Amino acid sequence: MCRRKLILLVSSVFASLLIAVAGEYDCDVAVIGGGSGGFGAALAAARLGLDVALVEKADCLGGSSVRGGVNCWEMAVGTTGIPFDLYKELKRLPNAVSIYSFGRHGGTFDPKRETFRYPGGETVSDPGRRYLDTLQRYVPRGDKNTPAYRREHWHGVPFEPEAMTKTMRALLDATGHCRVLLNTAFVAADASEGYIRSIQLSNGTRLCARYFVDSTGDGAVCAAAGCQMMFGQESRNRFNEPDAPETATRRVNGVTLIYRATPVKELRIEPLPEAISAKCWWTKNFPGAHVNHYPNGDLNINMLPTMEGDQFMRLGYNAAHAECQRRVRAHWHDWQVRIEEFRRYRLSWIAPALGVRESRRVVGEYVLTENDLLAGLSGQKHPDIICLADHMMDTHGGHSKHRGDLIEPYGVPYRCLIPKGYRNLLVACRAASFTSLAASSCRLARTMMQMGQAAGTAAALAKQLNVDLPAVPADRLRAALRQQHVQLEHPMPAALRAYLEKE
Ligand SMILES: Cc1cc2nc3c(=O)[nH]c(=O)nc-3n(C[C@H](O)[C@H](O)[C@H](O)COP(=O)(O)OP(=O)(O)OC[C@H]3O[C@@H](n4cnc5c(N)ncnc54)[C@H](O)[C@@H]3O)c2cc1C
Repeated sequence: MCRRKLILLVSSVFASLLIAVAGEYDCDVAVIGGGSGGFGAALAAARLGLDVALVEKADCLGGSSVRGGVNCWEMAVGTTGIPFDLYKELKRLPNAVSIYSFGRHGGTFDPKRETFRYPGGETVSDPGRRYLDTLQRYVPRGDKNTPAYRREHWHGVPFEPEAMTKTMRALLDATGHCRVLLNTAFVAADASEGYIRSIQLSNGTRLCARYFVDSTGDGAVCAAAGCQMMFGQESRNRFNEPDAPETATRRVNGVTLIYRATPVKELRIEPLPEAISAKCWWTKNFPGAHVNHYPNGDLNINMLPTMEGDQFMRLGYNAAHAECQRRVRAHWHDWQVRIEEFRRYRLSWIAPALGVRESRRVVGEYVLTENDLLAGLSGQKHPDIICLADHMMDTHGGHSKHRGDLIEPYGVPYRCLIPKGYRNLLVACRAASFTSLAASSCRLARTMMQMGQAAGTAAALAKQLNVDLPAVPADRLRAALRQQHVQLEHPMPAALRAYLEKE
């Protein structure tokens, strides 16, 4: 073991002992939740020298990208900062990461070239592509938006979850400033007058920090601190969103239990466990799925969705998870029975965590709405944009009646990360201040990581300037992010392109 690694190991063991003995622990910034947003926040703050504690209730880092089985970064503008660093590290490991191109799609079935209609969409590794190719989503309107165009322009980043979690940890450890507390849940917050004073952890520790970042995915810290939260679809009048329903509803995006299939030598239909019906649980057909090839050739199968959001809310997480496990078996069985190609694989893994796309969101100093998405960067007038996004509005399930694709990237203002009225708390995860429609576009993993990078950088600036988080000057924050190679302009500046070309 090299000397640096040994020192880090000793210091993190020492930190854990200190916490266990003292029951109280102090740091500059406490990041709660170690998914994409939390990782970005912790790494940015630790790289800038802050003493960081990263609290994660599961036994590994990565959140939805690892335990939820979401093994792929969809194409997304602006994800040039920490996500690119992570990609470069992953590239050093065998079969850890690749770039995909669009493959077959049921909607564009061509009987002359294909033997069956693909039961959804497929993306396949394409060794000729680069990270730069994955940095654009928005699609042209009209005639140009063809399958051929999509094949040429749609690229994303599939990865091996095990490599992802290890690499995240290695990057954090390399800073020498981040204590990672796994198997440790946030339980309660002591908050008053717009400040969180301390938080209580499941191991009995009281964690004090000057700044806090909520990256729990569902805004658990914000909710416990008494921040105003949103849930479900907002009414059209509330934010004047043209595609919002007339009256508010409790509907949320559908949930998916992702599973993996591995090639086998002999063709075989795996028997369905006796207690599970081969019939579809929905009135018509089994849902389509997105199939994305892992770098090693295994299949990642992402039903769109496994369960409607309403049913998920009615059942609660545990019952919904159990039901989705049955649905995975039935779905796979249906594919194997109907399509010979899938008999060349066996179901090898079901994600341990249900993939939840949408839950509660905080009301921040600014609420990002569909109007921001439709205006695009050229039409937005915000002085504090800290990351770009361009994914289509994308609700999985029965309520996806909106215009979908965007024609230009848009920006996320720093104020979306500041819960309204709070002074030392930021939210860097899919629970940030977005309406339901904006969240359906903005929630991609790399976008969350970029928001995390902005949150960690803002905390470092706040400490340096000795101010509260809302007082961090937007121009200083944006300048610091540009220095870290974050894209804030569109089209991409030439110098940034040149930097990315050197992958
Ligand atoms: C099925 C599905 C498919 C998707 N497909 C894609 C895709 O193809 N490409 C893409 O880019 N994005 C995709 N997304 C979106 C993207 O994966 C998520 O929006 C993103 O990963 C969310 O990141 P996050 O940091 O907000 O939350 P998460 O990754 O969910 O992280 C939250 C973390 O907080 C931890 N936590 C929660 N509560 C506590 C607590 N009390 N104490 C301590 N820790 C806590 C959790 O254990 C978790 O690790 C998909 C999402 C889903 C669900």
